[in-house]
Amino acid sequence: MPENREIDVAVVGAGAAGITAALYAKRKALSVRIFEAEAVGGQTAEAIWVENYPGISKLEGAKLMHRMAEHLKKFGVEAEEAAEITNIRKQGNVFELEINRGEERVQAKTVILCTGSRYKTLGIPGEKELYGRGVSYCATCDGPGFKDRAVAVIGAGNSGVNAALFFAEICKKTYLVEFMAKANFDAIYEEPIKKSGIEVMLNTELLEIIGSEKVEKIKVRDRSSSKEQELDVDGVFIYVGLQPRNVLAKRLGLKLDEIGYILVDRKRATSLPGVFAAGDITGELAQTVVAAGSGAVAADSAFDYLKKEVSGSLFGANSDMKPFKKEKDDWHE
Ligand SMILES: Cc1cc2nc3c(=O)[nH]c(=O)nc-3n(C[C@H](O)[C@H](O)[C@H](O)COP(=O)(O)OP(=O)(O)OC[C@H]3O[C@@H](n4cnc5c(N)ncnc54)[C@H](O)[C@@H]3O)c2cc1C
Repeated sequence: MPENREIDVAVVGAGAAGITAALYAKRKALSVRIFEAEAVGGQTAEAIWVENYPGISKLEGAKLMHRMAEHLKKFGVEAEEAAEITNIRKQGNVFELEINRGEERVQAKTVILCTGSRYKTLGIPGEKELYGRGVSYCATCDGPGFKDRAVAVIGAGNSGVNAALFFAEICKKTYLVEFMAKANFDAIYEEPIKKSGIEVMLNTELLEIIGSEKVEKIKVRDRSSSKEQELDVDGVFIYVGLQPRNVLAKRLGLKLDEIGYILVDRKRATSLPGVFAAGDITGELAQTVVAAGSGAVAADSAFDYLKKEVSGSLFGANSDMKPFKKEKDDWHE
């Protein structure tokens, strides 16, 4: 049963950042609870393969996250699933968190927001209507159902390419459709893509997803010739980028960058004393290893905050918080 007393740290989100933050907080002997709106693992659990987490050369994303959650359990903390935090209010020196299950409230001295990001949608005809009936944003979750069929992956960044390579092994036909004239995936994927039989369509816009009961076709337009064509596909997997899950950050009135990522200083302190943020939600390089490291820093900073009971950011109330993405060298200025 969860503790009812006021806790030291409430972690929101159980992806790589949140799990690591909870682990580090617990190892500092802080009382900690970690809340997850959906299921433990975050976006990494959707990765078909993770091949860039040091020490683990290749593992399914879901397995990697299962290992992280098991590691946390060994320290006596279990992420609470289906526990969405719907609101956070500061009352004096304590934060009150509302959970989507009845009247339950949690009081915490510090909060670490690790709410990550989620896929962007395209807003084109057919996308919403056929969602779950051939339209998906997660090849790991829905991909196996498309064995021996034809699919189109939209977006040729690393995640899209990863998905397309997976489909190339199980599907009779795989299209990879990219809006820009040049794809934006890591060089390591170039050879596998060439050998895969995937039909790569650059400079191509997805205009519409067509089907009555389920996906039957997509309509695309070649952006250089303006020629339109329809392709027969059973599935459309959309990988066109991410947007920050910043509802709680906005409710708390935290400073955000122009995209909506939470501004933090080097210690992952936000503009509100006692609230820290880690992982994708801060606009750092969106990678599992970065999120985990960021979570560790945030927990350590929460510990310092509790110990010192400082009233401003760890670097003082006038701390100059800047977006990670814009900094040339944030760490050695
Ligand atoms: C398909 C795919 C493949 C990827 N492949 C790789 C890869 O191979 N290697 C790599 O390094 N990175 C990969 N990434 C990126 C990596 O997964 C992310 O950088 C990482 O998941 C960020 O971790 P995070 O903890 O910051 O956020 P997330 O993993 O997004 O976790 C945030 C969690 O917070 C929860 N949450 C949000 N709001 C609330 C709330 N109000 N209350 C409670 N819980 C909430 C969400 O449900 C979610 O579980 C991939 C991403 C995707 C989508």
